[in-house]
Amino acid sequence: METIDAIVIGAGVVGLAVARELALAGHEVLILEASERFGTQTSSRNSEVIHAGIYYPANSLKAHLCVDGKQRLYRYCAEHGIAHRRIGKLLVACDEAELPQLASYRERSAANGVPLQPLTAADIHCLEPAVRAVAGLYSASTGIIDSHGFMLALLGDAEQAGALLITRTPVVAGCITAEGIVLQTGGDEPCTLRCRTVVNSAGLFAQEMARHLAGFPTDQVPPTFYAKGHYFTMSGRTPFQHLVYPMPDRAGLGIHVTLDLGGQCKFGPDVSGWPAAPDDVFELGLEDKFYRAIRRYYPDLSDGALQPGYTGIRPKITGPTEAAGDFLIQGPSVHGVAGLVNLFGIESPGLTASLAIAQRVLHELRQGA
Ligand SMILES: Cc1cc2nc3c(=O)[nH]c(=O)nc-3n(C[C@H](O)[C@H](O)[C@H](O)COP(=O)(O)OP(=O)(O)OC[C@H]3O[C@@H](n4cnc5c(N)ncnc54)[C@H](O)[C@@H]3O)c2cc1C
Repeated sequence: METIDAIVIGAGVVGLAVARELALAGHEVLILEASERFGTQTSSRNSEVIHAGIYYPANSLKAHLCVDGKQRLYRYCAEHGIAHRRIGKLLVACDEAELPQLASYRERSAANGVPLQPLTAADIHCLEPAVRAVAGLYSASTGIIDSHGFMLALLGDAEQAGALLITRTPVVAGCITAEGIVLQTGGDEPCTLRCRTVVNSAGLFAQEMARHLAGFPTDQVPPTFYAKGHYFTMSGRTPFQHLVYPMPDRAGLGIHVTLDLGGQCKFGPDVSGWPAAPDDVFELGLEDKFYRAIRRYYPDLSDGALQPGYTGIRPKITGPTEAAGDFLIQGPSVHGVAGLVNLFGIESPGLTASLAIAQRVLHELRQGA
C-alpha cells in the first residue's frame, strides 16, 4: 500500500488553497478530485464576490475568516496578477420598515472591523441612478474576482511546491487505523493509500465523506442541508456601477445585483428549495419572483430583460428554520482523530475566506500533532 504524507479530498477553491498551504509548509500533498477538472462544483457556481465581512455575527469563524481572507485575497490577486476589481457595494433599504435591519448590519459590520458609510436616498441616487431606496450603506472593500484565475494560481503554487492533483479519482471509503488514515479511491484506477494527514474538503459531500471513514465518530458529523439558488442574467447594457444588495433573507443575501469582470450583470441567487440531494437543474417558473424582488430596488427593469443563468447549491449544516450556521473547521482537538481536518458548511463567504481557511486548517493540524 502506498503511503502519502498528506491528502486533500476535493479540488474546489478551498481544497486548492489548503493544498497550497500544506505544500508550502513542506508536506508531500496529493489532491484527489472526483470530477474531470478542478473547481467545477460550488467554486464555479457562485457570485465571484470578494465579501467585506458585513453580515456575520461578531467572533464567528465566518466573520473572522472573511475579513482576514479578504485582505489575504486582495494581496494575493495583486501579487499574482489575478483579475479583480474593488468595485464597492451598496446595501439598500427599500422602505422605512427595513431601516432597523440596515442599522443592525452597520453595527454588526463595525464589530467585525468593517466600517460602512451611511447613504441617504440622494447619495444612492447619485451613485446608482437606477436604484430606488430610502437609505443604504456603502462598503468600499467589496470586490469581484476571476475565481477560475484564482484557482489556477492556487494550483500552480501548490504544484510548484510539489503537490499533485489527480482528477477523476473520488475517495469512496476510508478507515482510521493506528498507523494513519487509509483511503480507498474509485475511478479508472482504484487504489488504497495510507496517509498521516487528510483534509476533507469535499464541499457538498464533506459530511458524506466523513460518514464513509470507518472509525470516525459519527456523532461528530453535522447534519447536511442543501439550499439551492438561481441566477438570472440581464440582457442589454447594465445600468449599475457597483454591486447592489437588498436586505438579506434567512438563508441567503437576497436577490442582488452582481457584475462580473466582463461587465455582465446578473441577479441572484435566490433560495428556492432545499433539495435532498444536490442537482443543478434550473427550476421553471421563477421569473415572477425575480422580477418582483428586483423591481423593489430597480423599478425600471423591463419585461423580458431576464434570462435564465445558472444554479448554485449552498452546503449548509443548518436547516431552513434554523439560524445560519458558522463554518465548521473540525480538527483533531474536536473529534480526536490525529491528522484529520473536516471542512463542513463552507458556504458563502468561502471563496473570500479560502486563504484564511487554509491557514486555519494548518493551525488545527499543528495543534493536534
Ligand atoms: C450560490 C452561491 C453563491 C456564492 N457566492 C459567493 C461569493 O460571491 N463570494 C464568496 O466568498 N463565496 C461565495 N459562495 C461560497 C463559495 O462558492 C464556496 O464557499 C466555495 O466555492 C467552496 O469551495 P469548496 O472547495 O469547499 O467546495 P467545492 O467547490 O464544492 O469543491 C469540492 C470539491 O470536492 C470534490 N469532491 C466531492 N466529493 C469528493 C470525493 N468523495 N472524492 C474526491 N473529490 C470529491 C468535488 O467534485 C468538488 O470539486 C457562494 C456559494 C453559493 C452556493
